[in-house]
Amino acid sequence: MKAWWRGRQYILAAVGLCLLAGAVAPRMARPAVPAKPVQQADGPLQGMTILVDAGHGGTDGGATARDSGIPEKELNLQVALLLGDALRQSGARVILTRETDMEYSRNKREDLTARLRLAREGNADLLISIHMNEYRLRGESGPQVFYRPGQEQSRLLAGAIQEAMLRELKPARERAAMAGDYFILSLDIPSALVECGFLSNAAEEKLLLTEDYQRRVAQAIRDGIVDYVSLRITQAGARPG
Ligand SMILES: [Zn+2]
Repeated sequence: MKAWWRGRQYILAAVGLCLLAGAVAPRMARPAVPAKPVQQADGPLQGMTILVDAGHGGTDGGATARDSGIPEKELNLQVALLLGDALRQSGARVILTRETDMEYSRNKREDLTARLRLAREGNADLLISIHMNEYRLRGESGPQVFYRPGQEQSRLLAGAIQEAMLRELKPARERAAMAGDYFILSLDIPSALVECGFLSNAAEEKLLLTEDYQRRVAQAIRDGIVDYVSLRITQAGARPG
């Protein structure tokens, strides 16, 4: 253990030196340091890689909250970061499509393609895209989860997340998970697009702006994912542990 740690210290020192050298001579090629994400040792999602996409970003603000004027992209990011934390705490490896206000391209299709590439290259097992809804009629409210039509596993995943959101958030309007033709759902891994609530609804907008509710939304999505994964393990039969 000690020898291992000593070896590790040398590696860290070497990496530190490389970084320093990089700072002094920025044009020098950077050494390829394999990223080793910190993983929770145990938890119901251990061994899974989950891509969490914070919808929109950069010049694409998405929907606009009707009363506060806050763009959807900001709330998506806050929920996505909280969801990433909750999933890591449950043992998953998490890939976030963005951790800041950015976009991969101003061309929408290119931007989404870059996000999907992250999922493919990172060998993601599941994909969750976070969004906020809006509608011209202010009465519409409630979270709603979408899946790609014809994808059975995505339908089950979306259903489990929808159930968990209804159970834990107790929204005034209870919606059902629905099939939806979204480009971000086009991979062959279980994928769900979560519309966390309506920014056009006064009461729901107020809730979605608070960190407390964002945390509850993230927790409900995490719980839905865990429900889906345990359902799949039960259906697959014996899997030790
Ligand atoms: Zn959106």
